Amino acid sequence: MIPLVKPFLPPKENLIPRIEDILYSGYISEGEAVYEFEDKFSKLIGNPYCISVNSGTAALHIALLLIGAGTGDEVISTALTAEPTNTTIALTGAKILFADVDINTGLIDPKSIKNLITERTKAIMVVHYAGMVCDMDEINKISKKYNIPVIEDAAHALMSKYKGKYIGNNSAYTCFSFQAIKHMTTVDGGFLCLKNRDEYIRAKKLRWFGLDKKTARLKNNIKEAGYKYHMNNVNATIGLVQMEHLNNNVLKYISNGQFYDDSLKNASGVTLIPYYNNTEPSYWLYTLKVERRADFIANLQNNGITASPLHLRNDKHALFASKCKLINLDIFYEEFVHIPCGWWVSNEDRHKIVEVIKKGW
Ligand SMILES: *Cc1c(COP(=O)(O)O)cnc(C)c1O
Repeated sequence: MIPLVKPFLPPKENLIPRIEDILYSGYISEGEAVYEFEDKFSKLIGNPYCISVNSGTAALHIALLLIGAGTGDEVISTALTAEPTNTTIALTGAKILFADVDINTGLIDPKSIKNLITERTKAIMVVHYAGMVCDMDEINKISKKYNIPVIEDAAHALMSKYKGKYIGNNSAYTCFSFQAIKHMTTVDGGFLCLKNRDEYIRAKKLRWFGLDKKTARLKNNIKEAGYKYHMNNVNATIGLVQMEHLNNNVLKYISNGQFYDDSLKNASGVTLIPYYNNTEPSYWLYTLKVERRADFIANLQNNGITASPLHLRNDKHALFASKCKLINLDIFYEEFVHIPCGWWVSNEDRHKIVEVIKKGW
């Protein structure tokens, strides 16, 4: 069975000696390995204000704390995402207003965002779902016009691009995840990329109780309570080794995704998803719309290929139950499906997948 998701771990001879060294180094918490990983990741993204944390969820939570979202505020978000996008908003006490999606892409619809803005809107949360980049030209315009910050949940979008640059350089807050099945895993981990130096300094305190790492522990003076969200040297060492393989791996996702874009464009019963101006996906999952989805999935299953949606639309959870009508999502949610696209999908696999789809179901 060709799976939809699969963790990549570097070859043992490459990874295990490095893990062993750090485990017995006498320094396993946040230290030099973390700072080296931050330095390398920041250079990759092209943004000096990137901080590591112990999950993508922690990155989202810190972003919301920096913005000051809380009870009485509203945050505009999307229901087509993994739950942490929205549980973190709920944790702050802010109310979630779900914008509808663009019927063609499943990504948050800027027009719907605009309709939900009130004087209580504290942030706009957008998700580059499956590695496809949202309509940032329009979202940036809205952010500027109404002076509302945007958080980009880029858990699926490592090395996706906007205006030729990697995601992580555009909005005031961009959050990455290194959870098991993402483009790159440190087992668990994440990054928050910022645009402002003062917020970068505050975010570092928020990830470690509110303490300033640069000041001696006995001289420290907490002014704002923080969390225990920092990354440790062990996860960072895994990240450093992963980065040696990252380009090669992500290029495989992209090459497979572009292969499907070309090979499936005239396949009957299939509608491909268009990409917005100035955006380039990194194809964490390959997403398409199909007729008679249950039959499509069963047919691929019979041919040894996993195909499926991945997340429950979040407004189906009692916690997020919403009165907002999401007419486009209602339609998109019944039609879309993901097919395997990642580093484990070989040239032979992808040809087989296209062949099975083109034969019909
Ligand atoms: C994985 C994921 C997260 C959270 O990341 P963790 O590292 O698991 O905390 C956030 N948003 C989306 C869309 C995700 O897929």
